[in-house]
Amino acid sequence: VTAPAPVEQQPVDQQGHPVEDAILVALALYFASKLAIGATRLPARLVAQLVALGLSERAVRAAGRIALAPPLTGRRRHGSPTAGGARTTTVRTVASDEPEMRARYTLAAAKRLTQAITLGVYPQALQLERGYLDSHRRAGRRRAQAAAALDRTVAEHGPYLVWTTKNDARVDPACRRLAGTVFTIDNLPSVDGTPAIPGALHGGECRCEGKPLFDRSQPLPTIKAQPVGVS
Ligand SMILES: [Zn+2]
Repeated sequence: VTAPAPVEQQPVDQQGHPVEDAILVALALYFASKLAIGATRLPARLVAQLVALGLSERAVRAAGRIALAPPLTGRRRHGSPTAGGARTTTVRTVASDEPEMRARYTLAAAKRLTQAITLGVYPQALQLERGYLDSHRRAGRRRAQAAAALDRTVAEHGPYLVWTTKNDARVDPACRRLAGTVFTIDNLPSVDGTPAIPGALHGGECRCEGKPLFDRSQPLPTIKAQPVGVS
């Protein structure tokens, strides 16, 4: 029997793969599945995996209850849509991201609540946790709106988009790095491993837009040819 690992460390399995990543995948698959629809508690198998990370079982169960309470956006009768395929839209990509985001939230919440038990402030932390989930879900809705806007732009102007910032002092460093990036909706720029959507980065503060590379409402620019040899 091995002692539970401290929460701060990322334990690895026998192959050296981070255990947390494997648990995040298992959680995301669960949230995307039919099993999660209407569920109010995490399956015992997932609770056991999280507890094996060194997290408090009470904290894990509470995090699971909070994460399962609000329905996932874009979920159908058989679970969440999967990314990719011929009919890729940003809206679809976002809906398929949501189980992963819910999985990340669950792990983070279980860690925060475990810490709160250690510090003797569990009831207060539980109260705060509902606020975290609310802001997490607000961010999810903004992401869905930004995704729909991107899909409309593509439908109107074609597939090539340019990440466009407001180009002022308030632009976030992450957005500044993306400024001018040409992309398509099935090849979104990535920030920290998550597909980035203009207007949906860094909480509610992102004012970026995916502008069409070719604006079909504008005439194509004409280049006046200079007669050769004349200066
Ligand atoms: Zn931005």
